Amino acid sequence: MAAGGTGQVFPRNIVAAAWGHDHERAGADRVDLNTVTEFAPATEATWRDGDAWLGGGTFLFSQPQPGVTRLLDLAAFDWSPVTEDADGVAIAATCTFAELARWRPSHAAFAPFAALAARCCHALLGSFKVHNVATVGGNLCLSLPAGPVTALASTMDGVVLLRGRGESRGMPAADFVTGDGRNALRPGELLTRLWLPAASLSARTAFRQLSLSPAGRSAVLVAGRRDRFADTVVTVTASTPRPVCLRFPAPPTPAEAVAALDAQRPEYLDDVHGNAAWRAAMTRRLIGEVLAELAS
Ligand SMILES: Cc1cc2nc3c(=O)[nH]c(=O)nc-3n(C[C@H](O)[C@H](O)[C@H](O)COP(=O)(O)OP(=O)(O)OC[C@H]3O[C@@H](n4cnc5c(N)ncnc54)[C@H](O)[C@@H]3O)c2cc1C
Repeated sequence: MAAGGTGQVFPRNIVAAAWGHDHERAGADRVDLNTVTEFAPATEATWRDGDAWLGGGTFLFSQPQPGVTRLLDLAAFDWSPVTEDADGVAIAATCTFAELARWRPSHAAFAPFAALAARCCHALLGSFKVHNVATVGGNLCLSLPAGPVTALASTMDGVVLLRGRGESRGMPAADFVTGDGRNALRPGELLTRLWLPAASLSARTAFRQLSLSPAGRSAVLVAGRRDRFADTVVTVTASTPRPVCLRFPAPPTPAEAVAALDAQRPEYLDDVHGNAAWRAAMTRRLIGEVLAELAS
C-alpha cells in the first residue's frame, strides 16, 4: 500500500507504510498502529495535535503510540544525508545510521570525525534493517540515554537546528537531551539537522562502550576529543539519563577528569541494562581509557 496525498484518511486502523522507505513492503511486514488514521508527507502538512514526525519508524512502529493519530513522513523532504564545506558538516535529520556510517569526507581533515561517527553508529546494536532506516534525527529526538548520536553530537560541540511554527532556532546538542526520553523540543518542533563545526572534526577522538551482554544496549558510553590546542572534551552517555560533558583547557589526568565528573553529581541509571554502582564504576574506568587513548 502506498500512501496517497496529504491527509489521506484511512477508514480504520492504519497499516503503516511510510511514504519513503516502506512503501514497497509486503503485507507480512506491516505494523498495526491502532490510533493512527492518517499519514502524510511532512512537506505538505501543518502540525496539529496527535501528529508525530516519522523518521525511520524503528521506535514509532515498535510499540503502541496511544497519542498519535497522524504520521508526518520526513522522507518527503528528500534532504541530502550529509553535506560538508570548509566550515563543517551538516547531517540531515533523515540521514540514516547506514548512510552516516559509510560516509567518507571530502575534506581529509574531517577523517577523525568520520571514524568516530561510524563507531557511534555501530554502538546501536540493531540489524542492518534497523541501520538502514533509523535516523540521526530520530535518535536525538527519542532521547534515550543510550542514544549514540547524542554522544557523537555532544562530543563534537554539535548544534541541533530546530524548526517550529514560524520560528527556527539552534541549540548546543549537549543541551538538547534533558533526561531519559526527554528533550528541549517544543510541541510540533522539527529537528531538521545537526551541524558540526570544522574545529571539532579534525580533533583526535576516542570511544569506549560497554554493555552487559554482547548484543545488549549500551550501559556506558564515553567519547572524547582533543584538538590541536589540547582542549579536551569527554562526554558520558548511556550510564546517565542525559549527557555529561566535561571540558578541560589542557589534557586532564584521569583523577582530574573523575573529580570533574563527580562535581557534576551525575545520577546513574539503574535498570536491566546495568545497576547504578556498576555503571558509576565503569564510567570512571572508561574515562581513564579514553584519556589514555587521546594521549597516546
Ligand atoms: C534492535 C534495536 C536496537 C536499538 N538500540 C538502540 C540504542 O542502542 N540506542 C538508542 O538510542 N536507540 C536504540 N533503538 C531505538 C531506535 O531504533 C533508535 O533510537 C533510532 O535512532 C530512532 O530513529 P528513527 O528514525 O527510527 O525514529 P522514529 O521511530 O521515526 O522516531 C522516534 C521519535 O522521534 C520523533 N522524531 C523523529 N525524527 C524527528 C525529527 N527530525 N524531529 C522531531 N522529532 C522527530 C518521532 O516522532 C518519535 O517520537 C533501538 C531500536 C531497535 C529496534
